[in-house]
Amino acid sequence: MIRNWLRRVMMGRYGQDHLNVFLLIAAILLSLIASLLRLGILSLLSYAVLLLCFFRMLSRNITARRKENDRFIRLWWPVRTKIVNFFRRLKDMRKFRYFQCSGCHCTLRVPKGKGKVQITCPKCGERSVRKT
Ligand SMILES: [Zn+2]
Repeated sequence: MIRNWLRRVMMGRYGQDHLNVFLLIAAILLSLIASLLRLGILSLLSYAVLLLCFFRMLSRNITARRKENDRFIRLWWPVRTKIVNFFRRLKDMRKFRYFQCSGCHCTLRVPKGKGKVQITCPKCGERSVRKT
């Protein structure tokens, strides 16, 4: 019954997207920080972000919301990739070393502790000898 009601409410409305997930997480983090530091203004800001999230979710202007989401993804995705790569490197820091290919500047991952090895870039075929 609640599911049917929710389906009826959400009919023709925008719903959830990447930007909304980001806004929701931002609102939760802001309210956590606000309560830890006892900052009323930050708590107010977290409610504003949450309201924006609900507004976008319930909006009937689907094309405008899609455009916002596309713009957000274009900005956010490179940042997200950098964060993900940073944590990936941190995780396998003990097992691998990272080099940058002198030919195409892509990142090459090599197992650690193998002494001097010749590395061939799988992208451009550039070879270099490095100590691992
Ligand atoms: Zn290369």
